[in-house]
Amino acid sequence: MERRPVDAQDPRRMRPVPAGRRCRLTAEQRQYFKSILEDAQTVTVRELIRDRPRIVIQPSADEVEVITDIEAREVAVESLVRHSARLRQIRNALFRIDSDDFGTCAGCGREISLKRLAAVPWTPLCIACQEDADGGGPASRLGGVPRRAA
Ligand SMILES: [Zn+2]
Repeated sequence: MERRPVDAQDPRRMRPVPAGRRCRLTAEQRQYFKSILEDAQTVTVRELIRDRPRIVIQPSADEVEVITDIEAREVAVESLVRHSARLRQIRNALFRIDSDDFGTCAGCGREISLKRLAAVPWTPLCIACQEDADGGGPASRLGGVPRRAA
């Protein structure tokens, strides 16, 4: 089966799980991931609320203070962008949690390993598809050795 890179951020581009395919997660595991995701959602919302006032521009006559403020604001904006993306992934995962889509890779349709789900419970992708989405691809997993042309 050929794997295609997918946009991990956009759930509309996720391939649906083939009918009749069952995810092997137990009800207990599903409940466990649900509580982890809900906790992560709470923490991420808190981070977003924390970041918000940091991007407000404070008027200052002091040049050094202005530069320090600009740098602090850039850090806060990066943090805001990162946490917004994380929150979107968490909410998408919570939306999928009760269906077989959760734990199934949106890229290749294979099961996402429990080890990966435990590390990144909001991920819609298996490790191979994530690496493709990150621009790594199979060659980079083999230490940069290019694949032989088929
Ligand atoms: Zn995959």
